[in-house]
Amino acid sequence: MRHDSQPFSDRVSRLRSLGSSDALLILGEKNIRYLTGFTGSDGALMAGLDWLVLLVDGRYVTQARAESRGAEIVEFRKRVDGIRETVLNHGARSIGFESSILSVAEHLRLKEALPGAEFFPLTAEFEMLRAVKDGREIGLIREAADIAASALKAVRQMIRPGIREERIALELEYRMRREGAGQVSFETIVASGANSALPHATPGRREIQDGDCVTIDYGAVRDGYHSDETCTFFVGSASERQQEVYRFVREAHDRAIAAIRPGASCGEIDRVARSFLAEAGLGEWFSHGTGHGVGLDVHEAPRLAMGREELLSAGMVVTVEPGIYLPGVWGIRIEDTVLVTEEGCEILTPTPKELEIV
Ligand code: ZN
Ligand code: ZN
Repeated sequence: MRHDSQPFSDRVSRLRSLGSSDALLILGEKNIRYLTGFTGSDGALMAGLDWLVLLVDGRYVTQARAESRGAEIVEFRKRVDGIRETVLNHGARSIGFESSILSVAEHLRLKEALPGAEFFPLTAEFEMLRAVKDGREIGLIREAADIAASALKAVRQMIRPGIREERIALELEYRMRREGAGQVSFETIVASGANSALPHATPGRREIQDGDCVTIDYGAVRDGYHSDETCTFFVGSASERQQEVYRFVREAHDRAIAAIRPGASCGEIDRVARSFLAEAGLGEWFSHGTGHGVGLDVHEAPRLAMGREELLSAGMVVTVEPGIYLPGVWGIRIEDTVLVTEEGCEILTPTPKELEIV
């Protein structure tokens, strides 16, 4: 697919500003896509001050030529050899690399192949490279969220006693694909009864029963961009305690969303949700971070978690997803994906989060 080259050259300029080394070595599939437009699943991108080389093996040369912008395409047989050639051709002596992706084995091979070069892991700032989204990226996340929500709307009437979790998950994924999702964001979670107390349950053969909480965590992908949303429904009725916990989780979610604005730290947003649930006596049952960035990956920087000092900026897309999990009993999570705006934030996932008995 042809794109205009502007966003890619801006992104590569931002990348270059992060490192003081002679060359940067990027290996993550999503980062290579972000920086060049190339969507293949294997390759390496090397950037110097005034050069950019996309290294691919023979399977990907045609695709790389068609998709990528601004990079010289170089074919390699062995990735290490391709990197070595590029480094030597450009006389690079210091190389910043993506330490979260490069394996120890490949790192050793590179050091052996380039005894004169020094390798440095890229800094934490690099993780934030994709955090602020441009208009096109936001548009795609918005489309993904709309596709997902309309699929859930169609599937909601299936949530009733006797139906298996996996049946609902299958139907939801099918609807998302049919309504234009290239793929689903992750394996859809449909967790009922005691399974809803597991934050990352996989849908199984359990039949939904009267009085269950049913947690559905799901998302769609549109041209590489993800959405992420969680709704918790009650089947037949909700007990006093379920209603009360739902209200607390909803309030924690609402307060965190109200606190989101440019300049707020990620840790601060987490603290708003966490301290509210702690005051409600539920602190020990909120066992994960409040949220995460969403984009080419469903989980990416920044993390909205305890102690995180990164500051939010307009254009970031993050989730807010407090949850309370009572082991062996039930769990309730409410999640929206939001866009940080100049004034605060806008919720992109359109499903209402009022307590709903189905
Ligand atoms: Zn989710
Ligand atoms: Zn999430």
